[in-house]
Amino acid sequence: MSFEKLAELIFPDVSKTPEYYMEKYPKRNLKEGAKVVRYAPSPTGFQHIGGVFAALINERLANQSDGIFYLRIEDTDQKREVEGAIEDTIKTMHNFGMDFSEGMTGEDSEKGEYGPYRQSQRGEIYNTFAKDLIKKGLAYPCFCTPEELNELREKQIAEKITPGYYGKYAKYRNLTPEEAIEKINNGENYIIRMKSPGNPEKRVEFHDLIKGDVSFPENNQDIVIIKGDGLPTYHFAHAIDDSLMGTTDVIRGEEWLSSLPIHIQLFEVLGLKVPNYAHIPTIMKQDGGSKRKLSKRKDAESAVSYYREEGYPTVSVIEYLLNIINSSFEEWRAENPNVDYHEFKVSLDKMSKSGALFDIIKLNDVSKDVICKIKAEDVYNYYVDWAKEFDKEMYDLVTNNEAMAKQIFNIDKEGPKPRKDFAKWSDVKEKIFYFFDELFDKETKENVELPKNLDLEEAKRVIEAYAKAYNFNTDKDTWFEDLKKVAIDLGYATDRKAFKKNPEQFKGMVSDVAGSVRSALAHRNNTPDLYTIMQIMGEDKVRNRFKKFIEL
Ligand code: GLU
Repeated sequence: MSFEKLAELIFPDVSKTPEYYMEKYPKRNLKEGAKVVRYAPSPTGFQHIGGVFAALINERLANQSDGIFYLRIEDTDQKREVEGAIEDTIKTMHNFGMDFSEGMTGEDSEKGEYGPYRQSQRGEIYNTFAKDLIKKGLAYPCFCTPEELNELREKQIAEKITPGYYGKYAKYRNLTPEEAIEKINNGENYIIRMKSPGNPEKRVEFHDLIKGDVSFPENNQDIVIIKGDGLPTYHFAHAIDDSLMGTTDVIRGEEWLSSLPIHIQLFEVLGLKVPNYAHIPTIMKQDGGSKRKLSKRKDAESAVSYYREEGYPTVSVIEYLLNIINSSFEEWRAENPNVDYHEFKVSLDKMSKSGALFDIIKLNDVSKDVICKIKAEDVYNYYVDWAKEFDKEMYDLVTNNEAMAKQIFNIDKEGPKPRKDFAKWSDVKEKIFYFFDELFDKETKENVELPKNLDLEEAKRVIEAYAKAYNFNTDKDTWFEDLKKVAIDLGYATDRKAFKKNPEQFKGMVSDVAGSVRSALAHRNNTPDLYTIMQIMGEDKVRNRFKKFIEL
């Protein structure tokens, strides 16, 4: 009876019961096997690639099972909150092809029948459950000051015993309700703790959908469920929210794995059904000889904004993350080069149990594969969108020369083995700058790459001769025949075997002649097909480049 009085004193305004809420949020009417999963960030404003990774796994599993993927905002740590973070989260996920079927839709709006989806608006719900636990003697107010807790901790560490607030060290655990009531009436500050029924000599066994079978000592810490500011801890809110919102599978970062014994116990104490769990490996990075967590401070690629600024298509990032989620994705992609990634079936049991290694070089390879399959017209549009924000000079050049830009993006695209020049839009400029006089004319002599066997003076001689023979209006074969004639006239070999046999009889190979033309037009050794470049540039520009080269 007096527990009841204590509960009434602490929560005088709470009139509902846990049963009320359990009825209010009935089981969803979904097909067998449908997963209800969530993305549950704290609105700190920083979008970490690990967040996209976690969201992607949840979103894929929901969609694959015709389930629900909802957004819950975990804002119980209000010091860390950043304005606009909810909208930013929704926008980021949308850009990565993920939309929520339920939950927050903006700073002050939401959709779905299981809300509020923002923890700071669920105070009454948490209080209802906390009140009920107090009534049942399963939770209690704790009056320890931070200093007292520190002192306890230091003493425990000095005595080499497990630190924390538990068992006989839990000073207020066994206070009678009357004693607690008196303290509250005296105005003493308190928080609410769960009275843990656990015994660390016993173990809890659990099957994690990624980690497999795991086993831990039972929790015996009287963990805090309601903090001094009246808001719940992550643990308490997690158990209540995921129950009432009908989450079937809690798929979250592995940093929460060690809290699993607490969570399982909380569900039991609350009389709620334990969901399935899957703990996602942390994204790691190779740093010299060792692996470490991708760091917000040290690694630019930890921020989602990095991928936008560098100009990675979001599909590239998604496909790369799918590679990390299931290594079988790569094989699937090779067998199904043109199928949408949504058709790939993500499975948790095929996921690596240990760290997920993040590798930018691999991302670049994946992204080149993605971009090379995008039609030139679309490449143009993506590039213009990116450049508009991140490279105004290129934006102006490309949009003022739209037809040429589309031809450039179409070079070697339509054959069976399309070119893989770009991993990201910020790669484009260096690969195509020479088409634009405005950029080409900024080059200095030092930038000019020459064919391996030739110096600048010899390359100029080649260009002088070639300029006379050059005919714009020919097909590729004739064009090459003309080039060969120039080569022979200048003493270059057109036959590799002849050259290999008597190299001293030649100045070089016909490829050096072509290489000189390439140097004159692009200042680079590595370009797409020369004939195509010349066709795109047009006769005037080509002749003009020859002239500039000779004058270098
Ligand atoms: N708000 C928690 C976090 O950001 C969510 C963990 C979870 O998904 O349960 O780490």
